[in-house]
Amino acid sequence: MTTHFLVGRGSVLPGFLDAHVHLALIDATLLPGGGIARVFDLGGWLPDGLNSSMPDLACAHQFITAFGGYPLRAGWAERGWSCAVASAADAAAAVDLQAAAGASVLKITLNSLAGPMLGTEALAAVVGRAHELKLPVVVHAEGAGQADRAFVAGADAFAHTPFSERLADDLVTAMAARMTWISTLDIHGWGRPTPAFEIASDNLRRFHAAGGRVLYGTDLGNGPLPLGLNSREITALLGAGLSPDDVLTALCSPAPLGLTLADTRVTFIPGERPRNPEDFADWLVTARALTRFELEVLA
Ligand SMILES: [Zn+2]
Repeated sequence: MTTHFLVGRGSVLPGFLDAHVHLALIDATLLPGGGIARVFDLGGWLPDGLNSSMPDLACAHQFITAFGGYPLRAGWAERGWSCAVASAADAAAAVDLQAAAGASVLKITLNSLAGPMLGTEALAAVVGRAHELKLPVVVHAEGAGQADRAFVAGADAFAHTPFSERLADDLVTAMAARMTWISTLDIHGWGRPTPAFEIASDNLRRFHAAGGRVLYGTDLGNGPLPLGLNSREITALLGAGLSPDDVLTALCSPAPLGLTLADTRVTFIPGERPRNPEDFADWLVTARALTRFELEVLA
């Protein structure tokens, strides 16, 4: 990764990515000040005016789910945010609708705890159509066996590090060979770690050790999360065995999920990077996302 040091001022890095946000639920204009330059909107309605406030954006548009499935009954999601698929015959039309609306990733939910789920054939048909359209598939997998189902169906990424059960070593190794996991560790307790936090951290530790690609993501919009870099998420990543440089890689991926995002902002972190890893998170969260013009003014 190229790091430039603005003499005497700080570090300039590629724009930090939060790979799991819901823009409808937050004020995106605050994200650059909190150090976030790029986002994936993983489901829901997109507010107006994003071209100026958060242009470096990839979005999923609607959640693909089963009739009555997650998040159709969740309090935070409006009905229109989801697109229900009844069978494999409906799959292509549902995926095409998202592509026509501007989606560049596809979000599928498989949550056995919150209603019906896509069957195996419908799931395979949705993933197959997405891949025909070159849309990477991101799955919310929740409940026993759902991460495995998503992987077998060809999912490219998980919207959350699997947190429902400890995944077997051989499954984690197989996933690491071709998947990307979006971290979202801090949603499990927001600083008061729950059993799901421990399960997810253990899965992520082994996935990362096996060479799996990790993207920093927070599920911003759900729960009490800071509008910008989350020091607890960073600390949790370090706790799962990522080095400080690995954390920067998880934030700075040049082509996350193979997508080319607009590149209007870079990340600036004032001051010198601390030598002590224990001070890394505190330093990192002082980052700001700046346009190149703002950076020139600063220099
Ligand atoms: Zn989410």
